[in-house]
Amino acid sequence: MIKSVCGYCGVGCGLEFEEDKLRGDVVYPINEGKVCSKGVSELLSIQTPTRLLRPHIRESLHDELKITSWDNAIDVIAKKIKTTNSDKIGFYLSGQLLTEDYYIANKLVKGFLGTNNVDTNSRTCMSSAVVAHKKAFGIDFVPVRMEDIFKANLLILAGANTAEAHVVFHNNIKKAKKKGLKIIVLDPRLTDTAKIADLYLPLKVGSDIDFFNLVSKRIIEENLVDEKFIEENVNNYELLRNKFKRVPATKMLKRTGLSKEQFEEFWEIYKDSENIISAWTMGLNQSVQGVDKNLALINTHLLSGKIYKEGNGPFSLTGQPNAMGGREVGGLSTMLAVHMGFEKESIKKVSQFWDTNKIDNKPGLTATQMLSAKLDVLVICHTDPVYHLPNRNKVERLIKKIPTVIEINAYDNSETSNFAHIKLPAAPWGEKEGTQTNLDRTITKQEKLTRTSIDCKPDWEIFQLIAQKLGFKDAFNFESSKEIFQEYQEMTKLSSHMDMHKANYDDLSNEPFVWGKDIVSKKEFFTKNKKANLHFVQNKLMSEKTSLKYPLILVTGRTRDQWHSGTKTNLPKTLLKFKDLDFCEINPTNAKKLALENDEIIKVISIRGEIKSKVLITENIREDTIFIPVSNRDVNYLTNDLLDKDSLQPDYNHSAVRIEKINS
Ligand code: SF4
Repeated sequence: MIKSVCGYCGVGCGLEFEEDKLRGDVVYPINEGKVCSKGVSELLSIQTPTRLLRPHIRESLHDELKITSWDNAIDVIAKKIKTTNSDKIGFYLSGQLLTEDYYIANKLVKGFLGTNNVDTNSRTCMSSAVVAHKKAFGIDFVPVRMEDIFKANLLILAGANTAEAHVVFHNNIKKAKKKGLKIIVLDPRLTDTAKIADLYLPLKVGSDIDFFNLVSKRIIEENLVDEKFIEENVNNYELLRNKFKRVPATKMLKRTGLSKEQFEEFWEIYKDSENIISAWTMGLNQSVQGVDKNLALINTHLLSGKIYKEGNGPFSLTGQPNAMGGREVGGLSTMLAVHMGFEKESIKKVSQFWDTNKIDNKPGLTATQMLSAKLDVLVICHTDPVYHLPNRNKVERLIKKIPTVIEINAYDNSETSNFAHIKLPAAPWGEKEGTQTNLDRTITKQEKLTRTSIDCKPDWEIFQLIAQKLGFKDAFNFESSKEIFQEYQEMTKLSSHMDMHKANYDDLSNEPFVWGKDIVSKKEFFTKNKKANLHFVQNKLMSEKTSLKYPLILVTGRTRDQWHSGTKTNLPKTLLKFKDLDFCEINPTNAKKLALENDEIIKVISIRGEIKSKVLITENIREDTIFIPVSNRDVNYLTNDLLDKDSLQPDYNHSAVRIEKINS
C-alpha cells in the first residue's frame, strides 16, 4: 500500500493506493478516509484520452504540430532562450506544480537567466491575500489551520463556497457545526455553503470592504477592542479609530445591500462569539480592490485580538493543491525566493546560495502582465492562460504575437495549446513524486503510483534539461526530487521564519510536516517593529459599472466536481456523474422579464465579447447578479481585465453584462 495525497485542491486529502485502487486515508487527520468526487477519480485523470504524450513542434501557428524528439525540442528552446534578451523571456507557472518543480524553474529563471519574469497562475487567485498578509503581518503567512474550526464558536465565510471548492473541509465544517460552531455566510449567491449557515447575508457584489469596515467600526464603538493585544502587537490603532469616527455607517450599510436588521442579527452573533475565524477565497481576492478587501477583514481580527489563539484568525483558503508551496519557494515574480524580496541583502544571500551573479534587482512581470509585455519567448507550464485570463479576445490577440510559445502540460486539450509552437508532455499526478503545501501550511508528498508514460517527464526534469542545454550543468545536476527538496530546505534557512529544514522528505507521505508552528505560538509578526499593521481602507467603487446596456453583474466560481477548464475532470459521463460544466444562474425576476425557461440557450454579452450559456433559473442569486461557473471555458470572453494595483490580480467577479434571448 502506498500513501499519497490528492493533487486537486488546497485541502490536500490523504490517499491510499493498493491493488490499483485509490481510497481516502483513514488515519490522515484532515480527511479521515473521506475524499470528494475529484479525489476519488484521480486515477481516471491519468488514463484520460486527452493526455499529451509526445513532444510536438511547429514553425508557425499556421502549420500543423508535428511529433518531435525531446532532444530536438530542448535544442530549439535553448537556442531561442540564448538568442533572446532576458527581459523578453517569461515563465508562466502554476499552482499544480510540485514544490521541486517550482524550485528548479525559479532557480533557472531568476538565478541563471537573469530575469525575474517567472510568475504563476496563483497571481489570478491568491496574490491579493499574499500582498495583504505582507502588509499586515510583514510576511505571507496563514495564521489558522483547518482543525481550528473545532475550537471556534463562529466561522464567517466571505466569498468562499467551500461546499464546491473545498469539499472535504466543508464536511469538517458541518461536523463542527454539529458540535456548536455557528456559521455566517456572506455571498451574493445562496450557495450550497450558504444553505448550511445559521445566518446568510446576500451581500451586494463588491461591498465586502464596507461590510468589514462596519464590523471594525462597531468593535471600536462597543469597546470590544483587545487593548492589551493592540498595545503589545499592533500598529496604527489610533489612526484607524479616528478615521472610523468620520466614516458614515449608513452609507456603508447601503452599499452592502443589507438591511439594518440583517446587520444587527449578524452583530448579535458576532459580539457574543469568543472565538472567531473569518475565511475567504476568490470573492475577496479576485477584485480590483482585492488587497483592500483582505485588509478590511484582517483589521477585524487585529482589533479584537482574535488571532494567534486556537479557533481564531483570518483564514485565506488557497484553491490549488500547491499554490502555497509556490508562494513559499518564490514562484511569484514579486518575490525572489523563500519569502525574500529584491533588497540588496536578500539578493546577496540568494546569489551566494545559488553561486550566481545574475540576479536582477527589480520585480519581474506578473502573469497578468506577461502577454502584453511583447515577450519573444513564453514558457507556460501546467496552466491555461488563454482560458483563465480575463478579457479573452484581447488575450488571444496578444498571445498570437509572441514568436515562441512553449506549453508544458500533461493534457493535450487546453485552450492555450492552439497558440503553442512547442508542446512538451509532462508527467501528471500519479506518474511523478514530490511535495506540496496545502492551504494550512501542511507539507505532504505525492507519491509515484504508476510508471511514467514513456515520453513524459516530471516538470523539474524538463526545466533541468533546458538549464543543462544552456550550459548550467553544475547548478542543475539533480538526480531526484528528494535532492531538490533538500537543497530547498537548506535555502529556507536564509529566511527569517521558515522552518522547512526540520521536515524529512522520506517521511512526508506518512507524517506531513506543518511549518510555522512557532510563529503562531510566539505570536510573531515580521514588520520592522515586529507589530502587525492595521490599514484604513475604503470602497472606492473601482469595478466596472453596470448601465442600461449592461445592467447585470457577472460573478464566476467553481463547481464541485470540475477542476478549472475540465482538462482532468471532463471525463466520459459513463464513468462519472459529474455536475454540469455550463450553466448561467439567473434570478426568476430577470428570467420572467426576458421570458426565459430553464435549459434554454441564451447569449451573455459584455462590452468585450459574448458567449452562449444554458439558463438555470434560481432564487439563489440576487436580482442584480448572474453566475457562470469557471468550468465554462468561454466565460473569460466576458470578464474585464481591471487589476488590483498592488497584487495585479484580476477583477473577475464584477463584469457588467446583459442577457439576450436567442432568436428573439
Ligand atoms: Fe482532493 Fe480537495 Fe477533494 Fe480533498 S477536497 S479529495 S484534496 S479535491
